[in-house]
Amino acid sequence: MTVFESLQNIQASPTMAVTQRARELREGGADVLALGAGEPDFATPDFVQDAIVKALHAGETRYTPVDGTPALKKAVIDKFARENNLTYNNDQITAGTGGKQICFNALAASLKPREEVLIPAPYWVSYPAMTILAGGVPKIIECPRADGYKLTPKTLAATITNKTRWLILNSPNNPTGAAYHHDELAALAEVLRKHPKVWVLSDDIYEHIIYDDFVFHTLAQVAPDLADRILIVNGVSKSYAMTGLRLGYGAGPASLIGAIRKLQSHTTSNPSSISQAGAVAALNGPQDFLYEWREAFRRRRDACLESLQRAPGITCTRPEGAFYLFADVTELVGTTTPDGQAITDDVALCRYLLEDKHVAVVPGTAFGMAGHFRLSYATSDAILAQACERIAKAAGTLKGSS
Ligand code: PLP
Repeated sequence: MTVFESLQNIQASPTMAVTQRARELREGGADVLALGAGEPDFATPDFVQDAIVKALHAGETRYTPVDGTPALKKAVIDKFARENNLTYNNDQITAGTGGKQICFNALAASLKPREEVLIPAPYWVSYPAMTILAGGVPKIIECPRADGYKLTPKTLAATITNKTRWLILNSPNNPTGAAYHHDELAALAEVLRKHPKVWVLSDDIYEHIIYDDFVFHTLAQVAPDLADRILIVNGVSKSYAMTGLRLGYGAGPASLIGAIRKLQSHTTSNPSSISQAGAVAALNGPQDFLYEWREAFRRRRDACLESLQRAPGITCTRPEGAFYLFADVTELVGTTTPDGQAITDDVALCRYLLEDKHVAVVPGTAFGMAGHFRLSYATSDAILAQACERIAKAAGTLKGSS
């Protein structure tokens, strides 16, 4: 199938659609509280900004090696050694225009026609679309609230077929904030050992945004014997508030990294030279500010949880990472608004919240799990307090559940 043909089976990003509609309402004068987007509201750290300006003035505005400068590769290798106890060589590291490009490149550079990619749901909206564009078949695995929105070994074992090429694991997860503990990863590794043809894309982009006593582990660390079929995807967007700079990186088997390099050499070439300089500074620099950011996110998470849990018909699981709440609103489906609008599903509820209450959240349907909405708490405490109050009040006025 050509990319043109594949595109006919794909929708534009629903999270971006919500953000766009919120912008339109705001331009029309409405006081819209936007909790749709997935990016930190903090400024990029000063020392990162300085490194970018310095690189610019030093003339670092030329092409670099396709998959990253030697300085960036070294910073990434050091990061994996320091934080994850993993050892990589230069030919096992790639850098691209955001973690998004690394994910897409990995699938496009490896999938044979109609091979399956296992995607636990709720999932980041782009995984199924990327799989389709890369000529593969997304196989969605439902991971309900009862399982903490996490993939269980039993479900994984039951879902793998001889067409399965990849499993995508995202921890901490967008949209649920669920994060896999060491033992949970070890149990999934047990299943994967029985299926040597299945590779794992471990999307660790929210690695540093974790709460309470949670200790982050990545699968390759827990199961080093599987490392030759694991691609770790990470980047500086979320951890270092550098979303617009578009810099992600991957670590995995040299054969896959080589195929990614070849693909990238004919599409986008190197990621922005000055963004690479910024990423080197971010990875090598002081990391203490991350503690403060985490504390701010934790405070916001707790405030939103408390506020929403008091709302009728809304149930939230306590996230251990990322900066999202994934609210179960199945009890509100089948209700009616005071002016007679039918809340037929999560999409209708989010439309009502946006159009009438001016709060932008994203329906769970966009993430492969209906009956929910995702709220991003990467925004100020004041906006969050107001938004949660509006949501809770609106929920309280809905009449008659089905
Ligand atoms: N993976 C997940 C789970 C995400 O939520 C995102 C961004 O929203 C990305 C990867 C890609 O981030 P970026 O391309 O900005 O590095």
